[in-house]
Amino acid sequence: MATGKINVSVENIFPLIKKFLYSDHEIFLRELISNATDATIKLKHLSSIGEAKVEYGNPMIEVKVDKKGKKLHIIDEGIGMTQEEVKKYINEVAFSGAEEFLDKYKDAGKDSGIIGHFGLGFYSSFMVAKKVEIITKSFKDEPAAHWSCDGSPEFSLKKGKKDSHGTEIILHIADDSTEFLEEQRIRELLTKYNKFMPIPIKFGTRTETLPKPKGAKEEDPAPTKEVDDIINNPNPAWTKKPTELKEDDYKSFYRELYPMQFEEPLFNIHLNVDYPFNLTGILYFPKLTNDLNIQKDRIQLYQNQVFVTDNVEGIVPEFLTMLRGVIDSPDIPLNVSRSYLQADGAVKKISSYISRKVADKLASLFKENREDFEAKWNDIKIVIEYGMLSEDKFFEKADAFALYPTVDGNYFTFEELKEKTSALQTDKDEKLVVLYASDKEAQHSYIEAAKAKGYEVLLMDSPIVGHLLQKLETSKEKVSFARVDADHLDNLIKKEENQISKLSDEEKEKLKTQIEEAVGEKGYTVQLEPMDSMAAPFIITEPEFMRRMKEMQQTGGGMMGMGNMPDMFNLVVNTNHELVGEILNTRTSKKRERLINQSLDLARLSKGLLKGEALTNFIKRSYEMVK
Ligand code: ADP
Repeated sequence: MATGKINVSVENIFPLIKKFLYSDHEIFLRELISNATDATIKLKHLSSIGEAKVEYGNPMIEVKVDKKGKKLHIIDEGIGMTQEEVKKYINEVAFSGAEEFLDKYKDAGKDSGIIGHFGLGFYSSFMVAKKVEIITKSFKDEPAAHWSCDGSPEFSLKKGKKDSHGTEIILHIADDSTEFLEEQRIRELLTKYNKFMPIPIKFGTRTETLPKPKGAKEEDPAPTKEVDDIINNPNPAWTKKPTELKEDDYKSFYRELYPMQFEEPLFNIHLNVDYPFNLTGILYFPKLTNDLNIQKDRIQLYQNQVFVTDNVEGIVPEFLTMLRGVIDSPDIPLNVSRSYLQADGAVKKISSYISRKVADKLASLFKENREDFEAKWNDIKIVIEYGMLSEDKFFEKADAFALYPTVDGNYFTFEELKEKTSALQTDKDEKLVVLYASDKEAQHSYIEAAKAKGYEVLLMDSPIVGHLLQKLETSKEKVSFARVDADHLDNLIKKEENQISKLSDEEKEKLKTQIEEAVGEKGYTVQLEPMDSMAAPFIITEPEFMRRMKEMQQTGGGMMGMGNMPDMFNLVVNTNHELVGEILNTRTSKKRERLINQSLDLARLSKGLLKGEALTNFIKRSYEMVK
């Protein structure tokens, strides 16, 4: 038997390992299973090229908990190691690897977003074990080896007892880590990290019910048998070619990924590149509800089928982090900090590849089945609109599929919208004025008024609409947006050439003074307009620019210091309305004021501005009138 000291330049590596990333102790199991997987795949490769003379068969990896003996076993049927190899790989390579890793990251605890997800390897077992044994036999015809180390730099290496090739790692679990002797805990870890690893992983057995034999009676219990409980799916959908998969396969993989999600995804995007980087994966567009529950069920990042993290920030474009699914890439540098990751060239390429793929998929979905795409628009628009705002390339591509729905449920692309509205809705500078509503109910009377004039009214109700419209106004030529209750009236109504004012200039002057006197303190800018006699007599509008700035400030990214701006409203008076004529011709100022104030309140009511005491008074007054 050989004993020795692992080459120690850091005497205290074991306490260091133990302390390292306290919350991440659980990763030891993933590391050991990754090693077992690698060893198995290596053997597969060697036997396929005739280098290994052993039968590859159907190897698995077994994890066993021995609660009484306080041991955890990880057993594989891979290439195994000879004594020489143990010396080389475990005592030297693995050790110096662990040493280097710790050396590099021991001060980086705070920025450990992704550090610690990978790299510590075999020696991470000392985070939870006070003693580790390796019993291993190489596929080469050599005796088995038995390595053992109790957490000090001393180890022992002797001949071992093992007949078949492969490796068994035995962890003598430390007293402060007994959670890893709980079957439930181990099962949880195996499902978290190893659910899609390429080699079957056995964890205990389960009882399977068999079909009843022919002629069995109703009351006879069905026969059962104990079978290996395999906890992983070694061939997850994303490792297959898109051509091998049907719509249902994608759906069932979604359920496999998120067993607690009962809603079906809207559609999926299969990612598959091998140049200039390797990346596979499947992204799903979920039905997004208003309470953007983006924290749970996030996109999962894998590296060669080993789960790494579900924090893909920096790798997936931000606007797509609302999606679900998996991405798997050996090319994402994982043992680096997030700030580094964001500056990494390869990662940037991955991120822009993903957003390009998503844009292409959306364009083809739109082209293939517009009706279906329109039906899903409401559930996906948030992602698309957010993408249009945050990435110029995506913005350009979105012309092909971004939709602008009207209040009546028609969906236009931007080009179609332009065509549809250009005849009626241009202002004096030949600029297109697109009208929109943000709330069909609250802005009902304004929508009706606009529609009565033949205008199209869009329904734009996402929380970021202000930002989006601004982006469209600055990127597209000669177009502006105005909410139906905005002061677009100045721009558009003047084009109604056939509306001739019934009032003389003198009368207009008089009317304006009367109204300003009556509403004086309420802060309205009074504007007289000759409109259709069927339109409302008083209409309150709000400057588009001011309102939008305020809204944008609430949703972030708006201008600073505009928080305390007062509300600004215009009172537009339709000089062709009968009631307005009556106001003008009323003799007693008391009656006139009453007419004006009642009309103003009705206009406020229509805009949703009449509240509290003013509303109570208005109702009281109205009852008095109808009495
Ligand atoms: P890494 O896996 O990153 O190389 P580890 O510290 O986990 O680092 O392992 C070091 C080496 O020990 C591996 O490269 C491999 O050669 C050997 N090894 C570890 N576990 C096994 C195993 N289960 N079967 C065969 N060889 C193994």
